[in-house]
Amino acid sequence: MTEEPKFAADRMLGRLARWLRLLGADVAWRPDFGGHELLRLARSEGRVMLTRDSRLRTARDVLFIESNFFREQLRQVLTAYPFDFHARTFSRCSRCNSPLRAVPRSVVAHRVPPFVYASQERFSWCPTCGRVYWDATHLRRIRDEVERLMRPLAGQCSLGQAPARN
Ligand SMILES: [Zn+2]
Repeated sequence: MTEEPKFAADRMLGRLARWLRLLGADVAWRPDFGGHELLRLARSEGRVMLTRDSRLRTARDVLFIESNFFREQLRQVLTAYPFDFHARTFSRCSRCNSPLRAVPRSVVAHRVPPFVYASQERFSWCPTCGRVYWDATHLRRIRDEVERLMRPLAGQCSLGQAPARN
């Protein structure tokens, strides 16, 4: 995928949706939508639907997710629709999918814990839900984990925990 990666994830795939967003993909996640409703939305917005619903396995514009395991799910999506997550990590809000905006440090002074403010230089902010993002270490850890996951023997490695703030 050279253009912006766009997905619509079904209600079973909330964790996968959050991780894809952290990597910069545009992921609609509507747990209130049934399968066919979501597929309609996906098609109308040019998204690939990610689903665990085997009835949609052969549908056009659908990637049927084979595994129940989150690591395998992420690997399957990134294999089928590779995109440059290095360039995109932390460009989207993992909670609501809105594009993040960089904000000056002073703006978030009262919105993040003092030790974070003291130790971080760069912050981003979600204009929709107000969540503040920071933490270069966290960002690097996510990239490292995904890179490890995509290596041939990745099954032997641990992806670690989901991001703590999720
Ligand atoms: Zn948000």
